[in-house]
Amino acid sequence: MDDPTRDDPTATVSASVTGGLRQRLRWTPDGAVHDGPRRYLLMRPDVLMGVLRRLPEAARAQALAAFADSVADNGVDSIRAYFRQVGEDPSALLATTAAAAADLGWGAWRFEPGRARLGLVVEGSPFAVGHGPADAPVCAPIAGMLRAVASVSTGIEVDVTETRCVACGAARCEFEARWAAC
Ligand SMILES: [Zn+2]
Repeated sequence: MDDPTRDDPTATVSASVTGGLRQRLRWTPDGAVHDGPRRYLLMRPDVLMGVLRRLPEAARAQALAAFADSVADNGVDSIRAYFRQVGEDPSALLATTAAAAADLGWGAWRFEPGRARLGLVVEGSPFAVGHGPADAPVCAPIAGMLRAVASVSTGIEVDVTETRCVACGAARCEFEARWAAC
């Protein structure tokens, strides 16, 4: 069924800024979980990431890249609307994003803004925990969300790299968005 608010991110996100996501989630009798018009899914991280573990290495890399792209593409409208709601204040956008991440069980996020970069440190990434030991970083969904946040707050497309990952033996996952300084 068409959702009339789907193309109006301002309508769907305004409540996100005024209250915590955790308080807004609603379980409906049809077996769905909603934040307003947006449906969510609760899933064990080991089940989700077990899909990737079962893929050959090349396919796993492709799947992770697609995962990052999907999160960035689907999340950017919401991030853009958050940004407008907080008066285009980058610090407020980062605080709102970190709070929403925690409410979704995506770990404890700490942004580290810098010149021509935006760092992100994540403790307890469910993607790393769910995947288990790996030869390359696996937290592509977080990288995708950082790409959306950095692109919206800077107004330019940015590249994001996960520079350290718990799945590779690091103590925490670290990400970096970089763009050209001018
Ligand atoms: Zn990671």
